[in-house]
Amino acid sequence: MTIVISGTKLAASRKETLKDAIIKAKEKYNRVPKLAVILVGNDTGSLSYVKGKEKAALEVGIEINTYHYMDDVTEKELEDKIISLNNDSSVDGILVQLPLPKHIKQDKIIDLVAPSKDVDGFHPYNVASLYLKHEGILPCTPKGVIAILDSKNIPIEGKRAVVVGRSNIVGMPLAKMLLDRNATVTICHSKTKNLAEITKEADILIAALGKPKFIKDYMIKEGATVIDVGVNRDLETNKLCGDVDFDNVSPHTSYITKVPGGVGPMTICCLLENTYIAYLNHFKK
Ligand code: NAP
Repeated sequence: MTIVISGTKLAASRKETLKDAIIKAKEKYNRVPKLAVILVGNDTGSLSYVKGKEKAALEVGIEINTYHYMDDVTEKELEDKIISLNNDSSVDGILVQLPLPKHIKQDKIIDLVAPSKDVDGFHPYNVASLYLKHEGILPCTPKGVIAILDSKNIPIEGKRAVVVGRSNIVGMPLAKMLLDRNATVTICHSKTKNLAEITKEADILIAALGKPKFIKDYMIKEGATVIDVGVNRDLETNKLCGDVDFDNVSPHTSYITKVPGGVGPMTICCLLENTYIAYLNHFKK
């Protein structure tokens, strides 16, 4: 029997726990966690992602301020803003909504965020911390995927995990987290030959390639766990869909996530949890 894991439900329950923790922490520290968001331009995807983050932050009692710049903002203006947020002791987390316009060097901006406030976990310091197993802030989407697996006690240790996609924000850190949990991990990408032969060996298959309904039943081991990270538009219906052809694949799985309602809500939830961790760390100093 296939179990569809709801990221929406899992995120809702974790957000309740976080909300309670924030109420208690406020009594102790006299203020709530604060998140600053840098948003540039009017890309509809970015606007809607930021709106979702604002709503979720307010639900759990995190104060959130969005600094919205026009497309023609200069690199210097963004740098100045980040430096001022880094120096503002009332700000716990800083999130730069990506992508930035082409004239802005994205890496330069991300590298400027103080690692202790980098709640996306994209700063080289936090990336290195993951690879060296040092304490740091973990990136939200991979952290959300691991939380989804753990929510159903899906064994990771000793299992064959295949991650399709090797981006710095999803595929690579997720592969490292699965490796740290003692899975045997294979990372696939656009140059991988005989992809289906590899994915068919996966006890845990992660699809993070950004191709609508790309993963089909013939690529799945019977009874596998399939986690769909993709967020795409279905070319026929124009509706949101994942990288996995859900209707075709799900009958062959033990556990599977759906898009929407799977990894997406957990990414936002982990962002809020990271902001809370950054806030607590702030008072430890
Ligand atoms: P990305 O930077 O475009 O990376 C895509 C990866 O997939 C690349 O490593 C690419 O290989 C690989 N790939 C592309 N076509 C492939 C193919 N035919 N076979 C095997 N591998 C292939 O994308 P991303 O930022 O990691 O995002 C991936 C997907 O997840 C997107 O749909 C994105 O919208 C979604 N996403 C969702 C969330 C969420 O919260 N749910 C968060 C982040 C991203 P090469 O390296 O060889 O080019």
